[in-house]
Amino acid sequence: MNEKRLYSPSYIKEIIDSYGFRFSKSLGQNFLIDGNIVRKICEEGQITKDDEVLEIGPGIGTLTEELALRARKVVAVEIDKTLLPILGETLTDYDNIEIVHGDILKLDLQELFKEKFESKSIKVVANLPYYITTPIISRFLEEEIDVDSILVMVQKEVAERMGASPGSKDYGSLSVFVQYYTEPEIVLTVPKNVFMPRPNVDSAVIRLKMRKEKIALKDKDIFFKVVKAAFSKRRKTILNSLSQGLNMEKEKIREILEKAGISPTERAENLNIEEFSKISSLFPPFNIY
Ligand code: SAM
Repeated sequence: MNEKRLYSPSYIKEIIDSYGFRFSKSLGQNFLIDGNIVRKICEEGQITKDDEVLEIGPGIGTLTEELALRARKVVAVEIDKTLLPILGETLTDYDNIEIVHGDILKLDLQELFKEKFESKSIKVVANLPYYITTPIISRFLEEEIDVDSILVMVQKEVAERMGASPGSKDYGSLSVFVQYYTEPEIVLTVPKNVFMPRPNVDSAVIRLKMRKEKIALKDKDIFFKVVKAAFSKRRKTILNSLSQGLNMEKEKIREILEKAGISPTERAENLNIEEFSKISSLFPPFNIY
């Protein structure tokens, strides 16, 4: 078995040079080069031999290898076909890793899970390209893919927005969206110098633990439309932002807010998920569309 050298910068350079690999900015290729961070990510992912893991974007396999040492099985989806021969070499000693060539945004996830995993204890782990962080997480949450948790390395500001509580400057529609489905916890902040090449932004690892019991909603579509409208004009009152965002008369919105026990001069950033649920339950569907 090869030594665990996959986070050594000189070894990474050697292997990518030997394959003539070039980093793609558009695929967000910033590879981890720090063993401590790789191990911490796996520890915070709480990966055990009972788990099957889906890794998104294995790169040259640095995190994949550490995951495979801890998990029962790792399925890693990589979009860049020039990385496939490299992964074939770096991960050759592991018989519990399967590489799938594909775009995680386009693959049929239900099908992938049915085909590749056997158990109910599935965890997603990913060091994601920044530009597709939100679409990827949204897919897993909206499609209610049956996973235990999603542990992702993302841009620090995005992690802070996902984890923010009402009343904080980072709290917004992304926080409500993520917190409706999961219990988020930022478990690690990561400096730029642990990547090759170095990104321009700091990163953080956030664990999204799926909620077993979700907050009761009368209609999920209406709820998210109301939340989006509420935050669309951050500095306005909830009355004004809902009226403008949903294109509805102020009087109608005032009535709904009154029934929900929310002051019309309140601001979206101070409302919690239960309060949004209460407001949205009072909207008749025909008013929204
Ligand atoms: N996991 C490796 C690491 O930590 O060193 C690489 C992380 S790098 C930030 C992101 C990886 O995701 C790259 O290997 C990139 O090619 C891959 N990737 C980008 N877009 C993808 C997509 N839509 N589906 C699957 N993989 C993707």
